[in-house]
Amino acid sequence: MSLHLVKDTSAAIGVLDLQGGVYEHLDHLERLGITGCRVKQEGDFNNLAGLIIPGGESTCLKRLLDTFGLTQVIRRHYQRGMKIWGTCAGAILLAKKVVNDEPCLGLMDIEIERNSFGSQLDSFTAEALMPEVAAEPIPLTFIRAPKILRAGKNVEILLEMDDYIAAAENENILVTVFHPELTGCLALHRYFAQKCGIKATGSVSGSVDSRWQSHSWTRRARIV
Ligand code: GLN
Repeated sequence: MSLHLVKDTSAAIGVLDLQGGVYEHLDHLERLGITGCRVKQEGDFNNLAGLIIPGGESTCLKRLLDTFGLTQVIRRHYQRGMKIWGTCAGAILLAKKVVNDEPCLGLMDIEIERNSFGSQLDSFTAEALMPEVAAEPIPLTFIRAPKILRAGKNVEILLEMDDYIAAAENENILVTVFHPELTGCLALHRYFAQKCGIKATGSVSGSVDSRWQSHSWTRRARIV
């Protein structure tokens, strides 16, 4: 769905559409009955309740944000109350401190290390309980993921694993270093929608949509 077809964007969640897993997030929002839209230019951000910055490649995303002048635009909409969820590369862009690198948006008091598990081949899946988010364990997919090494005092840790933080939030920002949009898990999208003041209405009541398949998003890419 393109933004000009969405009448009331104050009840919509935008997905930053510069690079990375855009359609996968839109597909999850649709499963929850939430209006989702692609955002890529300044006017697209007006009134949005929330913004998802998808996973992809943070250096590339940072360059594109700068090239299109969107770094300041996102900061401004954040100041007016737009909530933000960064998945993986998105979390890197939101961090105030990035090991051996310059921060980009620098909106959340966390320290993050890129590619902290190694190469693409060191990507993995796991499962964990996130009591704030869902009653049952949720599937986790880590793709050349970063590690959150430290969270500031106003940041609540939602998931800690081994020697790193995998998910955290403050009042206005959610970060996950894994990719719920690459599993059938809808719990984190539902959780973020709640943070944005949006109620999910979709027919899936549990955390995982059993009808989801890894290629489901391609259907969405055809109709958008
Ligand atoms: N390794 C990527 C980076 O540093 C993040 C990977 C991802 O978003 N899955 O930007």
